[in-house]
Amino acid sequence: MRAFPAVKEMGTPMGITTRFTLPQADIPTQWYNLAADFPEPLPPPLHPGTRQPAKLEDMAAIFPENIIQLEMCSERWVDIPEEVRDIYALWRPTPLLRAVRLEKALQTPAHIYYKYEGASPAGSHKPNTAVPQAYYNKLAGTKRLSTETGAGQWGSSLALACKMFGIECVVYQVKVTYQHKPYRKLLMNTWGATVYPSPSEHTEYGRKVLAQDPDSPGSLGIAISEAIEDCIKTPNTKYSLGSVLNHVCLHQTVIGLECMKQMALAGEEPDVVIGCAGGGSNFAGIAFPYIREKIVNGKKTRIVAVEPASCASLTRGELRYDFGDTAEMTPLMMMYTLGHKFIPPSIHAGGLRYHGMAPMVSHAYKLGLVEAVAYDQLKIFEAAMQFAQTEGMVPAPESSHAVRAAIDEAIKAREEGKKKVILFNLSGHGLMDMPSYDAYMAGKLGN
Ligand SMILES: *Cc1c(COP(=O)(O)O)cnc(C)c1O
Repeated sequence: MRAFPAVKEMGTPMGITTRFTLPQADIPTQWYNLAADFPEPLPPPLHPGTRQPAKLEDMAAIFPENIIQLEMCSERWVDIPEEVRDIYALWRPTPLLRAVRLEKALQTPAHIYYKYEGASPAGSHKPNTAVPQAYYNKLAGTKRLSTETGAGQWGSSLALACKMFGIECVVYQVKVTYQHKPYRKLLMNTWGATVYPSPSEHTEYGRKVLAQDPDSPGSLGIAISEAIEDCIKTPNTKYSLGSVLNHVCLHQTVIGLECMKQMALAGEEPDVVIGCAGGGSNFAGIAFPYIREKIVNGKKTRIVAVEPASCASLTRGELRYDFGDTAEMTPLMMMYTLGHKFIPPSIHAGGLRYHGMAPMVSHAYKLGLVEAVAYDQLKIFEAAMQFAQTEGMVPAPESSHAVRAAIDEAIKAREEGKKKVILFNLSGHGLMDMPSYDAYMAGKLGN
């Protein structure tokens, strides 16, 4: 019997702690609001007609008052309701892992840590905000929530949260993914949601788009317009957005706050913190508590947002006021944008196909508090495969953008012969994205 040495000979790094978990009591009790610490105030959203700062009443048609207050909140710390923490406890605190097998494969002196948000029932970070959004709506008396979804990650997260609070959930799903990724739709149905492919015959705006182009593949902007119209026209219905807005970024900060405790358990501090960025919420989640350390304590941590080259709002967009949707129904937001009419190509990281970047993330980028990089799709899947084959976990195509950047940082560390501590957010698992992996492995994927 020499099983143990045999394992060692296979190259498994022994004696290194690779998993850092926290007890349930360490689920954060407060969210962190970066708006309180920005050295320059965040430009407010504007009413599209008057171009004056939007008022609570302007948004009351689509959001309940308690959520609008969170959206406009300038308090540094916001208490997490007990009912929300109780549901967070189903999967939080999520584990932090050290990717020793990946480090070894890369022959890098860097230490690579990742926060695993794929542990939630929906398989991504999105329930971190879906749950409080459903909770605040329940408190406000909302009976029905409408929303849009791209790849289906957000729709399934909201469906789950609505089911837990007894709210009806209606989802407009971008048509290409409705057709190509049926499992997400079935997950939404399993959690009781009604799902329409967008553009749909169900709204005036959907019918207008279909009249112009019956084969429209849909886009996130179109689906948002449909969900907002549905909300405005249906009694007791509010609308919910899974990214971009300030309150969404706020809810996601549980990620970074937990990371700080877990990195302390590991006895290290990150030199670089990385997250993929579509609308910006999971990036905000891991980054904002670390940005606070830069602003308040003068830390030099590099913080990097990673986008797809085909929909790169930070690195290729411009900073200006723009609409959040195609039909121009939302308030104007100051953000890096490719323009609200931009229809991105059908890349496989569906969750990153949004024309704009969260105003808070945009502001942090403008102030030089964060960096951004963009990668082509093939480089992303190459990194995803290497990660799956060393660490086991199959990352979502969106998350694989962060994996790519982490690997490149580790390679740079090897070339410079320097130790470096890298932390990235693995925003979700890719077990529902296997058709994309299939396309990659079959050589059918373009850039
Ligand atoms: C939706 C999604 C994203 C992108 O959304 P952000 O708001 O930018 O975080 C990233 N990763 C996964 C797994 C997603 O589901």
